[in-house]
Amino acid sequence: MMRRTKIVATVGPASLDPPILRQMIDAGMNVARIGLAHGTLEDHLASYHSIRHTADEMGAEVSILVDLPGPKVRCASFAEGGVDIVDGANLIITTGRDASTAAVISVDYDGLMQTMQAGDRVALGDGNIAMIIESVDAEGLTVKVLRGGRAQGRPGLQIPSDRLGLPTPTPEDLRLVDAFVDEGVDMIAVSFVRSAHDMRRVGVEPAPRGPLLIAKVETSAAVTNLDGIIEASGGVMVARGDLGTDFALSELPHLQKHIIRRCLAMGRPVITATQMLESMVYAPTPTRAEASDVANAVFDGSSALMLSGETAIGVDPVNSVATMAEIINRADEEFDHKAWARMIDETEYDDGLVDPARAITDALTSAACRIAEEIDARAILCLSRTGFTVRSVTRFRPRTSILAFSPDATAVRQLGVSWGTRAALSAERSSASDIRDDALRIARDQMGLESGERVVVISGQSTKTLATDTIRVMSIP
Ligand code: PGA
Ligand code: MN
Repeated sequence: MMRRTKIVATVGPASLDPPILRQMIDAGMNVARIGLAHGTLEDHLASYHSIRHTADEMGAEVSILVDLPGPKVRCASFAEGGVDIVDGANLIITTGRDASTAAVISVDYDGLMQTMQAGDRVALGDGNIAMIIESVDAEGLTVKVLRGGRAQGRPGLQIPSDRLGLPTPTPEDLRLVDAFVDEGVDMIAVSFVRSAHDMRRVGVEPAPRGPLLIAKVETSAAVTNLDGIIEASGGVMVARGDLGTDFALSELPHLQKHIIRRCLAMGRPVITATQMLESMVYAPTPTRAEASDVANAVFDGSSALMLSGETAIGVDPVNSVATMAEIINRADEEFDHKAWARMIDETEYDDGLVDPARAITDALTSAACRIAEEIDARAILCLSRTGFTVRSVTRFRPRTSILAFSPDATAVRQLGVSWGTRAALSAERSSASDIRDDALRIARDQMGLESGERVVVISGQSTKTLATDTIRVMSIP
């Protein structure tokens, strides 16, 4: 059986060459992620076209996710080669200078002195340099270095998200959204989301006419407003990097499980991200702990797992994807499908957030999964223009293969982050029976199903509502 849990791999300097991209696709990359936080729009557009072109040449179904920078505070450049920030030292963080030194770090956040308070913790880069604020005056923040390290280039300054007065999405984010919506990008990830309103302010058409919007849950406000954010999004990322600076690390495993469960209950794909195989940035094999983390993220119910530095700047991006695929394949085999389906059936909804179309679809997809299991069907065929029905089916994590069909190429690619789903483009047809016949034929001719095999077919093609309205048990012709 094909791998069920999907792989998102970040494409960067180590992986932009078409021969590397081709091998990453062969190794199992389902979604290519382009981080927009560094580099120019022109470079990002060139990467985007290169990935699209390489995937199309191979006839491979690869989706593209662009990840917005969000309101990051950045330091002015440190001198060439970097400087050492020493344990226990006192230094100043201020604004408005065009360079940073080991004594005075300047940042591009004008509100710094107004919003920060003595006792707040801040960190440089990926959190390796940690500092605590001792006092604040008009000149800047006086901080004490709790853990020193080397500061190079233009690192980010991490400040607690509830101190950050900057809006999400930022004006720069919105400019990037426009550029990539014009390109027809499949998915856009929104950084540092704090409320459902932040998601709505991105202002794109609902998927698949617009991109699938992925809310990155990486602030404490996002955890507080979780259900509203999930409802306003097309998918979610458990962004463990920044989430781990807003919460104690001991909270992270539990937040991961909680966020995933809420996403599943509400029928949204959820990506678990950051440091999954971190040591493979340098090493040819992961640590034992990383291998376990990947498998456990599958058991938690992740739709997809993400590679960041491992594939963007690592020594062997292809090996990182292949290693992740191997661990996932094995974990997929051990997945407890029955327990998961039971758990989803018993999950409570906030009724205020569930629209009637969703309630009907959810009831029918639940039944379809049960029928498929009881008659030992070869596959569940979902005929769904938008992907809505498919995302509802995948909640139950059925043992049975899920095959999805849509006449919309973007909808097909947006299913790239959905667990266990293989999606194919179908022809534009007007009658429900023609749509079904096409899907049965594609399943036979392109997806390896054989004549006479039994399948459960569910369709959500009714034009008035989005709701799924038919379940049939059929045979492959
Ligand atoms: P980033 O998001 O890599 O864009 O910061 C992921 C995370 O914070 O984990
Ligand atoms: Mn982040």
